[in-house]
Amino acid sequence: MNFTITLALLALQATSVNLATNPFFDQADGTGQLPQSYSLTGNARWAWVGYSDETRTHGVSLNAYAPGGQATGEVSQMVRGIDQAKGKWLTFSFRGRAEDGFTVANDQFQMKIDFYAKAGGNYIDSAQRLIYREVLRDRKDFAVNGNDHKSGAAAWRTYQIEELIPFSEVDSVKLTVQFKNGNAGSDKSSKFFLQDFSLTQRIHSTDGKVEPSSRIVSNSRIRSADGMIPLGGRWFYLPASGERVPVDSTGHLKSSIKVDFQNADRLFYRDDKLENPFAKNMTAWLRKGYLDTSGALVTEDRFLPENVVIEFDGSKRMRMHVRNIPNHPTAVFPDTVGTQGYNPSYIQAHSDVYILPVEPNRNPSAVAMTDRDSNGALNMGPVGLAVNGVVFYNPFDANMIDASNIMDRCCGHPSPDNRYHYHKYPICVNTPFVDKGEAHSPVIGFALDGFPVYGPYESAGVMAKDLKENPLDAFNAHYDKVRGWHYHATPGKFPYIIGGYMGVAERHRMYGR
Ligand SMILES: [Zn+2]
Ligand SMILES: [Zn+2]
Repeated sequence: MNFTITLALLALQATSVNLATNPFFDQADGTGQLPQSYSLTGNARWAWVGYSDETRTHGVSLNAYAPGGQATGEVSQMVRGIDQAKGKWLTFSFRGRAEDGFTVANDQFQMKIDFYAKAGGNYIDSAQRLIYREVLRDRKDFAVNGNDHKSGAAAWRTYQIEELIPFSEVDSVKLTVQFKNGNAGSDKSSKFFLQDFSLTQRIHSTDGKVEPSSRIVSNSRIRSADGMIPLGGRWFYLPASGERVPVDSTGHLKSSIKVDFQNADRLFYRDDKLENPFAKNMTAWLRKGYLDTSGALVTEDRFLPENVVIEFDGSKRMRMHVRNIPNHPTAVFPDTVGTQGYNPSYIQAHSDVYILPVEPNRNPSAVAMTDRDSNGALNMGPVGLAVNGVVFYNPFDANMIDASNIMDRCCGHPSPDNRYHYHKYPICVNTPFVDKGEAHSPVIGFALDGFPVYGPYESAGVMAKDLKENPLDAFNAHYDKVRGWHYHATPGKFPYIIGGYMGVAERHRMYGR
């Protein structure tokens, strides 16, 4: 079957379809000069984004430099045919990366949803979010994450705005990213790159709020919400209408449920809210220059719909099938120019199965790593999985060298067995809870013992690594009432992700071979 047709069929079945057209900016319009379906004005250009030593994809550059004046620029797309019956919450997100010299005055960098009726003929209302402070915050908080402006603040990250459709006559929305008052001092490093436009529609917001008419209980302290099937621990599944999921008399799962990109927004993890940790994170692109599962060199970018697939079967374990391909840009590997320490390995698709406890328990005899992991508390190789299916490793590479400074912009690199992995906070990992640093961070992954790994923040502007009260222990973990025991990623502070398993990891079954 033709690849495009396959994708279209998949999209039709999907519950959280991307409603944006040409989301990867790879189709040209009739003139060949502009990306199809977008409007670009001012200092906005259709561009390759990524430097020569990185996987380059199409996107848009916004340049904050204008000789002798202030720069402005915007990229937008009108999306028509919004069917409100499919959900009243809209989430607009994109992936962006600010160069060091991208600066604007008065916070004038924003993303916006304009609501229209009459197929775009009637403007009704707008919702916008200023995002410049997030750029500044990243520069301040994550420069420590890496050297040479790599793997640190200048990483790709997701920007997001979520809104309830305000009026019933809304049938179209315009998605815009725009800046004004651009005041970069020179044309050098003055750009903001963006790609991966996404508009999704849901019946609930990403923090568990539900539109008033919905049948689901809107309560962040939900234990077993109406219609939700408990999967064990903090996990729940909300069947689609008409979807039959066999359960026993206590409402627990009797057969297995497969979660992939099509129903990722129906798998919930409960902490202070109901999260969809895997939504938008289960697909990836096998890029030109990577290796496929058979070890063959990939010669053309290829979409991987099933990069992550999770199975629950009512037992105390969940199975994660992962191809381990990052869903964000990477450096070019093998590295022949030296920016990645001449890493000779490839990024390869694998077929791995990880089995994680659904309801993790603390192991009373657990020990954390001592100096350079001399007690072997953490194995080499995978120690956990980010929500995009890429594995976490302990802080060391071969010969026990701290690996945290020889990684690409998104904090990853491949191991000698061609497995891409993170040794520290992977700021590029998309999450449905975009981390603005304004509250406790969202879940970014799970250790192999089943305990969650959260992003770096404990509360607004406060990193968990700096806590005086309820500080992180040697496992890089602490306890609170709503999340239970959880790990935190700690940018710039050893052990960066986890310091040991506080629960029991099924190490012997780490690989699916
Ligand atoms: Zn490594
Ligand atoms: Zn915490």
